[in-house]
Amino acid sequence: MVAGALQLAACTRWSAGAILLFQNELRLSATLAEPGRFSALESVLLVASILVSAGLFFWRFGPILRTILRSRRDVDFSLHPIGRRVWDFFWEVLCQGKVIQQRPLPGLAHAFVFWGFLAFALVSLNHLALGFGIGFLPPASIVGNFYFLFAAAWALLVAISITGLFVRRFFVRPIWLGRKVSYESGLIAFLIFLLMVSYLAAFFVEEGGTTVKALWWTHTLALLIFLPLIPHTKHLHLVLSPVTVFLKRDGFSKIPPLAGDEDFGLIAGKDLTRLISLQTYSCVECGRCTEHCPASTTGKVLNPKEIILGLRTYLNEFGPSSDTPLLTESRIASPDNPPEKYLSMEAAFECTTCGSCEFQCPVGIQHVPVIVGLRRGATNTGAWEDNYGTKLFLALEKNGNALGLSATERDKFIQKQAFPIFDGTQEYCLWLGCMGGYDPKGREIIADFARVMQHLGTSFGVLKKEKCTGDPARRLGNDLVFQTLAENGLKAFETAKVRKIVAICPHCVRTIATDWREFGVAPEIEHHSEFMARHKDRLPKQNGESIVYHDPCYLGRYQEIYDEPRAVVSQAGLLVEAPRSHERSFCCGAGGGLAFLGEEQGERVSHVRARELAGTGAQIVGTACPFCNTMFRDALTAVSDTPPQLLDIAQLTARALPASQTQRESLPTDSGGVH
Ligand code: SF4
Ligand code: SF4
Repeated sequence: MVAGALQLAACTRWSAGAILLFQNELRLSATLAEPGRFSALESVLLVASILVSAGLFFWRFGPILRTILRSRRDVDFSLHPIGRRVWDFFWEVLCQGKVIQQRPLPGLAHAFVFWGFLAFALVSLNHLALGFGIGFLPPASIVGNFYFLFAAAWALLVAISITGLFVRRFFVRPIWLGRKVSYESGLIAFLIFLLMVSYLAAFFVEEGGTTVKALWWTHTLALLIFLPLIPHTKHLHLVLSPVTVFLKRDGFSKIPPLAGDEDFGLIAGKDLTRLISLQTYSCVECGRCTEHCPASTTGKVLNPKEIILGLRTYLNEFGPSSDTPLLTESRIASPDNPPEKYLSMEAAFECTTCGSCEFQCPVGIQHVPVIVGLRRGATNTGAWEDNYGTKLFLALEKNGNALGLSATERDKFIQKQAFPIFDGTQEYCLWLGCMGGYDPKGREIIADFARVMQHLGTSFGVLKKEKCTGDPARRLGNDLVFQTLAENGLKAFETAKVRKIVAICPHCVRTIATDWREFGVAPEIEHHSEFMARHKDRLPKQNGESIVYHDPCYLGRYQEIYDEPRAVVSQAGLLVEAPRSHERSFCCGAGGGLAFLGEEQGERVSHVRARELAGTGAQIVGTACPFCNTMFRDALTAVSDTPPQLLDIAQLTARALPASQTQRESLPTDSGGVH
């Protein structure tokens, strides 16, 4: 049996035989009792139990592994960049960084359980080895003695943490964990608690007696019951999630390329890739994705957690070679049939592609490529029928802009503003985008940003012919329209010999910099917040007004640009933070092409965010995306009798420029707009 003593200087006494005080010296006398010899019958029982446990584990784990491996290969998968993968593994798996950061208290409890498991790996191996008389960690040795005490400290933390998580799941019951009571989670929590308690109890019993033998068997059976439960329950994430985090697709919410001419997206089980299958089986059902989803939290059908679980149910039922469609067409879903409900066309087209779900997921699940993949399957095959969608695609094909206006409208605007045409001599190509070129408010923003550039003495020109980046087509799953627009744009840059681009729209920046890469390399592009932040010392310093800054999803989570727009806002007034900001910012409701689709079900996403922004009491809402600006235009007046002013960061800056640079021609307001 294990025995050991650790001596520490101290002056207190702890009874129970664990810590003893002798002559002003604190002696921690921790003795982990070990069972005596095992009979032949006991050894046979032990071998049989291990075999049954391992058999039950592989009985379920084998088919899961086969399903993952039989899924389609991910054409774009590469281990590069390995450094990022190693870092994510270290931070998200070993440090449990994401788990703790996003939900500190339960996250820490979960982390203690995880770290405790790691600390216990050696103890458990030695524990089973003792049953065969080959224990390799002698408790009398310095290493053994130290390690058992170290594991005891972890056992205590794990026991407390698992009790806390049990109370949360079964008594507090946050809505995000789902309405169904998970008895398997209760059983798992009980087994973990039993494992820890039976280990700790062995410090307080006699060496070699019947009590310690009983404790040894209790610990062993708890361990051997726990093992096969892993693949049968959501605790499968214990095995899969480290792999999922390491292998997840590089790039935030990155939409993978299609595998060839025969690939139209995710239509049936045979289209699911290995990464998607691996991710669906890794879901721990924590509901973090749903808790932060703007669609779910405003009463839409879409629920990102159920999308992932719906795919898992599909794979279990039909397998990865099935031709059975993934999406149901019916808009009315039965709450008793999760896959039909959550893998419905309706759910797939309610996503704003804000990326909150992916950002929150602690096990590396990437929802946006899945949801856009489902949209691709529906749009590319013509299964998705939506009047607004059809109108949008026609507008993009015919007019080259999402607002469906004639290109001459843009020409007139350029002439009115006297914007120079890019001819290769200017430093920047100023990308107008659909909003900057056609939307009345977007035009005001671009005009003000042009004045900021003039104030800074930066030369720029606009493309004579510019078409949409294809962002809404891309996110709504229309690959043909997207590819046409991307190739057209790349050619336009090449012809005009553009080297540097600046844009007011984060969607344009993301699409040009990342999505267009499938078809070629675009020139360097930056968001106007980056440009202005770099020159902030030369921008006018304003005092007084409070400005609450709204992080656009496509600038923040997608491109990790948080400080630059804040630097510009701070130059223009007093920066106020919204309750949800930075990575946790709440969507405006426009992304994923939704700005161009019809009425939303449930509460409007923009209203929820506008209420939150107005609730800060700030005098101005500062935006850095023309889509957010458009969404908040009506939303702020709808949610507040005295709405704050709404200004883009370019407008915040331009309003303080000398009069000659702020005077502008009145802009037309009747040339269309989003919705
Ligand atoms: S991307 Fe945003 S809207 Fe879409 S499922 Fe995720 S959280 Fe919900
Ligand atoms: S997808 Fe990720 S965040 Fe959502 S429930 Fe599953 S593990 Fe949690």
